[in-house]
Amino acid sequence: MRRCDELGAISDEAGQLTRTFHSPAMQRANALAGEWMRAAGMSVREDAAFNLIGRVESKNPHAKTLIIGSHLDTVRNAGKYDGPLGVLAGIACVENLRAQKIELPFHLEIVGFSDEEGVRYQTTYLGSRAMAGTLTKRDLAVIAEKGIERARRSRRDLLGYAEVHIEQGPVLEARKLAVGVVTAIAGQSRIRVEFEGRAGHAGTTPMNLRRDALCAAAELILAAEKSGVIATVGQIDVEPGASNVIPALATLSLDVRHANDSRRIAACRALKIKADQIAKRRGVRVRWTILQETASVACDPQARKILEKIVARHEREVISLPSGAGHDAAAMSAICPVAMLFVRCKGGISHHPDESVSERNVAKAIAVLTDFVKECCG
Ligand SMILES: [Zn+2]
Repeated sequence: MRRCDELGAISDEAGQLTRTFHSPAMQRANALAGEWMRAAGMSVREDAAFNLIGRVESKNPHAKTLIIGSHLDTVRNAGKYDGPLGVLAGIACVENLRAQKIELPFHLEIVGFSDEEGVRYQTTYLGSRAMAGTLTKRDLAVIAEKGIERARRSRRDLLGYAEVHIEQGPVLEARKLAVGVVTAIAGQSRIRVEFEGRAGHAGTTPMNLRRDALCAAAELILAAEKSGVIATVGQIDVEPGASNVIPALATLSLDVRHANDSRRIAACRALKIKADQIAKRRGVRVRWTILQETASVACDPQARKILEKIVARHEREVISLPSGAGHDAAAMSAICPVAMLFVRCKGGISHHPDESVSERNVAKAIAVLTDFVKECCG
């Protein structure tokens, strides 16, 4: 908790916490976390993508490597725990293993990824995707630092990836539990919907002769709320946007998520049909543009079972839940099996200075993580 505070004080902006890819603050954060790694007996390096890597070498030189990680970068005006908590829990786990004189049959690395939030280049998971070797040509074109693709790791050398992260949601708090096992990282569709009607005088156009784009949009928003998946309209633009003019154009964002890709895609299709019906009935036009589709990532079933077994020892109830937010584990799943443990956070608040976790709950997460690594030995 003290280390979270110390890292939380390292920022690129005075008065608030902001650390972006390879910024001066990120370099200071890597240096400080690197000191803690060294003190815990790890050898420390930075890879070509500025990911911080602490390594505990196994006596077996042919062994594979288990990676525990999360990210050290933040959003703008961030909280102290989203990302750093997972890296620091990993270091604490190494300290526990060392205190218990546990010899590992595999190499263990603690990784602090250089960019998950994507604030600097608007491209998420830069650090973990560089490690997974899944950066696109477009990514490489926008990044000023050259050669970051050399951070790529071989899947042959990896045993798996485990990540501790704050839940960023209210489920664990509502169930009064410290930790939960992540089943999958939800897939996501981002869609832009435009309704085009006809502008008119707000005083002289009778209600039955209107083609109000905003009323059409409103119907779709309520349909999304009842769609049976996690769906959000977070932005809406209305034109011409005057109090005395009937809206001619309404443009809205639609964000749809589900751990099951076919259910997400089916829900999007059903909403598109609904939008067409609304448009037809109201005499407006609708344009439906899919901006982005990300497939869901399932956590490794075997690793999940191990985590659930361990959580049962530490909690009165084991809860398994999908993650609605993206994580480095999603990027790492391209090259190895992944596992994730959520830690309860106060009010489900994240990406905000009010982000808060309790020492008790963090202690439980570290204990579960330590047991998990021990379980992977046998
Ligand atoms: Zn995060």
